[in-house]
Amino acid sequence: MTIQSVNPRTNEKFGPVIPETTSIELDEIITLSQTSLQIWSTRSPSFRANCLHSIANALEENIEELVKISDLETGLGEIRLTGEIGRTAFQIREFANAIQAGDLIAPLVDSAVELPVPQGHPQFVRTLVPIGIVAVFGASNFPFAFSVLGGDTSSALAAGCSVIVKAHPAHPQTSLRTYEIANKAMVDAGAPKGTLALVHGVESGQMLLRDERVQAGAFTGSKHGGRALFDISTARKNPIPFYGELGSVNPVIVLRSSIADPKVFACAYLDSLLMGNGQFCTNPSVMFIPKDSALSAEIETQIIDRVPSPFLSQATKTLHDKNREDLRVLISPKILSGQGKEGAGFYSAPMIFLSTVEHLLANISALTIECFGPTGLILTYTSISEVIDLVMKMDGALVGSLFGDSDDADAMVAGRALAGKVGRVAWNAWPTGVAVTAGQHHGGPYPASTAPLHTSVGLSAITRFLRPVTFQSLPPVLLNQVAMNLAKS
Ligand code: NAP
Repeated sequence: MTIQSVNPRTNEKFGPVIPETTSIELDEIITLSQTSLQIWSTRSPSFRANCLHSIANALEENIEELVKISDLETGLGEIRLTGEIGRTAFQIREFANAIQAGDLIAPLVDSAVELPVPQGHPQFVRTLVPIGIVAVFGASNFPFAFSVLGGDTSSALAAGCSVIVKAHPAHPQTSLRTYEIANKAMVDAGAPKGTLALVHGVESGQMLLRDERVQAGAFTGSKHGGRALFDISTARKNPIPFYGELGSVNPVIVLRSSIADPKVFACAYLDSLLMGNGQFCTNPSVMFIPKDSALSAEIETQIIDRVPSPFLSQATKTLHDKNREDLRVLISPKILSGQGKEGAGFYSAPMIFLSTVEHLLANISALTIECFGPTGLILTYTSISEVIDLVMKMDGALVGSLFGDSDDADAMVAGRALAGKVGRVAWNAWPTGVAVTAGQHHGGPYPASTAPLHTSVGLSAITRFLRPVTFQSLPPVLLNQVAMNLAKS
């Protein structure tokens, strides 16, 4: 089996044919990854930080070439992709700085207490050690920030793990070039060969997760794919953590007190909904608005001028169009439509389905249908209790937005309901756009995450790949040698 790039704007194949990784090649890659892990995991945080800085620099030095290839493969546009590489380099440097500062990885020293039990105890030093080889599945919709050098890879490398990335077939050349650039930068900076590796093909992804030398998985993508890989990870003889970020059906609640200017609000909503052709995991998929609001009429007027952007791949368009049709048949909504596009390429007209909360309460399965693309659902409500009723029946989500005045009595109730369902509650802000910073949480109840206690964005993401080990009564000389290799040095 082979993989080849397809231009989503023209549906033309281009570039070299990339063979899928064979089982023999995969075995060699994992063997090398294991050897490099033994070296990389014991290198000082300063050494690893230096290697990460080299990767970030190399990424930016090759920005023109990478933007050109990825734009041809994803159709996301040069401005967006240039920004995404900048964000990716920033993210890598943030992890480098964090391990160098030592805050996230510092050992916790619990000194001996010379008292009778239960107060008395010997000295304990709780440390964090790299979990092992991590399998990372690159996402289709962020060819840099959630792909070969995305947050999963950079946090795992920072933690001291070796990483094997399964490239996404929608951008194979971007994946390959990014890997080549990063690998050279790492090796030039002194990292062992094989610390970062790349494989291609659906089978190799599954074999990777089944291999007992691999100790964790990280993934961003569909509920279906993520669940299949989670099941592989947990059904192993030695189950491993699988950090999956799945789905993209996020609630947005608009309170009566919020809409000062429907024109401006409608425009901002459409911008957020259609950003990246709607292919964002933080998309404002389901918006609740008051029944008597002027907003829907304004959105109906404005969407007419919106033009379609290309889907990431034929598969993404096919799935989106099928799900959109399933949703339409299930709820028979009023349809607000933007412009279509004739000819080649993977395009669908932007579309919004308008219905009521009451109707959806009777058709609750509609809210599990993910339209990953230029499709929004707007539901009108008569009371906030009705909205909360529906939100509580929704699946877990990455983010929920709440628009209103802080003295609006409904704000607290709605905010609480959202907090029960999502990983991040955004106040008077659209859900799209995820800052890479210490306070970020990008996760949430399943299916938003298969590991709801963890985040895949922000500095805390590193903890997914660090396993706690406590050393009891270890003599200082041994402690320094055995336990402190993650400490600042
Ligand atoms: P996907 O189909 O879940 O694929 C993501 C990665 O996982 C790909 O590398 C894929 O490999 C691999 N994979 C999926 N199922 C697998 C299985 N059973 N065994 C082995 N490998 C498997 O996601 P996608 O291609 O990015 O997009 C499809 C849909 O996912 C979208 O339409 C959207 O609904 C959703 N999505 C969500 C997010 C999000 O951030 N939440 C992001 C992107 C996509 P192969 O392609 O080689 O099979």
